[in-house]
Parts: sequence; structure tokens; C-alpha cells
Amino acid sequence: MKITAITLTRLLQPLDPPFAAAWDPNPRTEFAATLVTVHTDEGITGYGSGDTMDGFEAFEHLFIGTDPLQILNQVRRIETINFHGGRYWPLEAALWDIIGQVAGLPVSVLFGGARDRLPAYASSGELKAPEARAESALAAKELGFRAMKIRIARHRLAEGVAAVRAAREAVGEDFELMVDLNQMWRMSGDIEAALPLAKVQRVAAELTELGVLWLEEPLPQVDVVGAQRVRAETGIQIAGGEMVRSLPEIMALIEADAFDVYQPDVALAVGMYRARQVAESANLRHRLFTPHTWSNGLGLLANLHVAAGVDAGPYLEFPFDPPGWTAERRDFFMTPLMIDAAGDLVVPDAPGLGVEIDHDAVARYTV
Ligand SMILES: [Mg+2]
Repeated sequence: MKITAITLTRLLQPLDPPFAAAWDPNPRTEFAATLVTVHTDEGITGYGSGDTMDGFEAFEHLFIGTDPLQILNQVRRIETINFHGGRYWPLEAALWDIIGQVAGLPVSVLFGGARDRLPAYASSGELKAPEARAESALAAKELGFRAMKIRIARHRLAEGVAAVRAAREAVGEDFELMVDLNQMWRMSGDIEAALPLAKVQRVAAELTELGVLWLEEPLPQVDVVGAQRVRAETGIQIAGGEMVRSLPEIMALIEADAFDVYQPDVALAVGMYRARQVAESANLRHRLFTPHTWSNGLGLLANLHVAAGVDAGPYLEFPFDPPGWTAERRDFFMTPLMIDAAGDLVVPDAPGLGVEIDHDAVARYTV
């Protein structure tokens, strides 16, 4: 089989009202997505998404005429581009979509087939006042979610902890809460200093009292010793690694026992094939792997297939913070993904990734 063409379709969905992510100084008034379509000489088409793919046109020729089924070679090819260009993992997702269709199996089966569904946590994105955050946690619980992640902004720590406290009071003890400080990577242009270790320790101690399941990215990536001190001194679990740039980088973090939970996003950080190695290495050390996902439904599907295949857990991230971030907004160019009544995200049983592209929406939002 040969790749005959790779199409990048840039989509832009206007957002009204805008969405103000806790980690982004600029509220989003538009949601951009790039749909990658890989065509083959045997008529099988694969879809991927989850990153901008900016600059990929300069490297496209490296893939045309190659065999999409030789996935390790394709992964290595994408990694060589990582040096001068971007990280083009949505292309790998589209190739797995093709491989799954050739095999007649969901991609999750090719990754180990451990599960056909995973419990999802409602991953919130906006900074909300304590009362509003408590209401949203309760609403998520009523929808079937068994867990929620709350973002805390480094310049609004007291308000953030108050929001977690209000959420805990609203949902009770039988609902997990996680907290994300987002200090391991930055949006372009954000040059503010990270929180110092002493402040993070105080916040971690308060969150431990509130029964928080894990504290995510509390410190910059270089401060492994700091993360280990926070774990040792408070007993809270630490999660991180969603945006690492390479497999060796996250393997070094696992080797150093930096975290309890490793979260490389398969669409943004290390790809799908390499994420399996991360999962197995973490599990061998009695640590957890569950991928980050915050892009769109197709990025989420790529993460879901890998996560279900390798038995990730305890929960899979499910970006969801209505009314600003709904499944319909997140998945605007495809049939939206939603949890079932038990709070699980079910792996589509169609061969490949099982995405249902909404071609009318693609036509409407193409720029
Ligand atoms: Mg995070």
C-alpha cells in the first residue's frame, strides 16, 4: 500500500461567547482545527487531528509513496522532522486509522485491546468563581461523570483553592477531584515566572486536605526534585508530562520517578506508538499512565484508542466545561463524543479510529 496524497484542511469555528482557558491569557473567539486526510492507492482513507500541522507542507514529500502500514518507519520519519519542524502526530493518527481499517479492527485492539471503554473525567478549562465551579461539578456528577479536574491559575491561587473546596462540598466524597496548575509548559508569549516551590507546597497541602486525587504540573519540568519534595511532604500524587517533546524526555522523567501519573498526549507530545512504551514503562514501576487530551474529538479518539488498548487509568481526560466548552464545540467537524450513563467513554467498534466526519461542517468551517 502507498500513500498517494495528504490533505490538510484548516477549520475555524467562531465561538460566541468566547472561551477563556485558565492557561491562556487571551480568550479564544475562534476554535481552529486541522483535519489531516491521508489517501492511499487502495482507496482507504485515514483521518487524524489534534495539532495545527503548521509547516507540514515542507515535509509532505517524505511520506508520499511510502507504505502507511510500516508504522515504525513512519513514526521515525515524523520524529526526524521534530528537530527543525513541528510535531506532526495527527499524521500518525491518520495512519493508524488506515491500519485499523486494513486489519478490520478498532485501533485500541492493535494497542493491546485491554478495554473497550474507560471512565472519563470532566476536564474543566475556565476559571470560575467557587459557587459556579461547585455548580458545574455537581452538574458533571449528575451527567454520570465520576471525576472532574479543576484548573487553578498561578496568579489566583486563593480563589482556585476556594473553588476546589466549594466543589468538594458540593459533590461529597464519592467523586474524585484533580487539580491542574499548568506550570510545565507555556502558551506562546507567556513569560511570567512560575510559582516558587514554597507556594506550591502550601497549595498542595491544602489540596491534600480536600482529598484531591492528583496535582498536575505543579512546577516547571526541570524541577523534578521539587515535584518529589511536594509528593514526599504532602502525600499528594503528582501528574505531568502532557506536552513533552520526545520519548527520551519522558523516559528520563519516569527513570527519575518524577511523577505518579504520566500524561503524554498522543496527538501533541510523543505520538501513539511511543505512548505505548511510556505506558508500559510507567506500569512496570507501579506508576500510572493516562494521556492528556485537549484538542478536538479526533485528538480525543486517538488518545482513547491508545488508553483503552494499554489499560490506562484511572480516568481518561474528557475536555468538558459547559457552556464555554461543550462536546459540540470541541468536536465541531464530527459526530460529538459523549460519555454513557455510567460515566464511561466507549471505544467505537468500527475498524480504525471510528471517527464520523461531518463533511457539511468541514465545508462550512474550512478557511
Ligand atoms: Mg494539564
